[in-house]
Amino acid sequence: MSIKLDGKKLSLEIEKRLNEYISINKKIAKRAPGLAVIRIGEDPASGVYVNNKEKACLRVGIKSFIFHLKDNVEQKEVEKLIDKLNFDEDIDGMLLQLPIPKKFDEQKLISHINSNKDVDGLNEINIGKLVKNETAMRSCTPAGIINLLRSQNITIKGKKIVVIGRSLLVGKPLSLMLLNLNGTVTMTHSKTLNLNKVCKEADILIAAAGKPNLVDSTFVKEGAVVIDVGIHRLKSSDKNKSRLCGDVLLEDVIPKVFAYTPVPGGVGPMTVTMLLVNTIFSWQKQFGLSSALNDLMP
Ligand code: NAP
Repeated sequence: MSIKLDGKKLSLEIEKRLNEYISINKKIAKRAPGLAVIRIGEDPASGVYVNNKEKACLRVGIKSFIFHLKDNVEQKEVEKLIDKLNFDEDIDGMLLQLPIPKKFDEQKLISHINSNKDVDGLNEINIGKLVKNETAMRSCTPAGIINLLRSQNITIKGKKIVVIGRSLLVGKPLSLMLLNLNGTVTMTHSKTLNLNKVCKEADILIAAAGKPNLVDSTFVKEGAVVIDVGIHRLKSSDKNKSRLCGDVLLEDVIPKVFAYTPVPGGVGPMTVTMLLVNTIFSWQKQFGLSSALNDLMP
């Protein structure tokens, strides 16, 4: 029987550790860790994600600061807010909730965030340190995936790993993290030829293409580990209902695999948890606190 890599369960276990870590170390730091979230505009999905982040902060004892800006705000005003938060001593982490309206220069805003507070691990300094395999803030979804693999003692070193997708958010940083951990990594994309043949070589296959049910059993080697990053809401035949699915056609793939992540409840919960970890990591550095959580950093 294949193993379900239960991200929901693991994220609750990690949150318990984070909560304990904060309770103990708050006495030394004399304040809780602080996370600032900047949301621009009214994208409803972003609203849900920001709420989830706020609730997660509350559960572990991080103080959250939500800045919801109207979409008629100017780029310069957002930059000013980021500058102010960069110098705010109560804030250890800061993120810009994506996507933001097209009129903004997204990368310029992300670059404005002080790299020590860049809890999404997306600015040039943190990406550069990842390339050099130096300790730094790591982007959350890839870091969550590494922790999921570790939680079941799935070895990365020496394994053939295929990542579908090369985005700056998931595919590229994930491939680099796996490479740093001595996996033999192939990064694929929409122009890759014979994708299913390439994937079938993988001991660990990670799908982050953003295409519902792209990966079926023809992509998967017997006994492989399959990680599904994709998340899609599909309308069901009953018009009032919808269901979530990933990039992997799970019912076709599960009988063949050693382990897999479900959607929902796999990679998603770990992404939020790693955001909390990164915020605490920054707080830890600021106050020279114990390194008891360092095993969570890939
Ligand atoms: P993205 O920016 O759209 O990137 C998708 C990548 O997949 C691109 O590199 C693209 O190739 C590649 N691709 C697209 N179609 C393909 C195909 N048919 N065959 C092979 N490669 C293909 O998406 P993203 O931000 O990386 O996100 C990917 C998925 O993960 C989305 O469903 C997103 O919602 C989900 N996600 C989930 C979480 C979570 O916490 N669970 C977090 C982040 C993202 P090209 O570069 O050639 O265009």
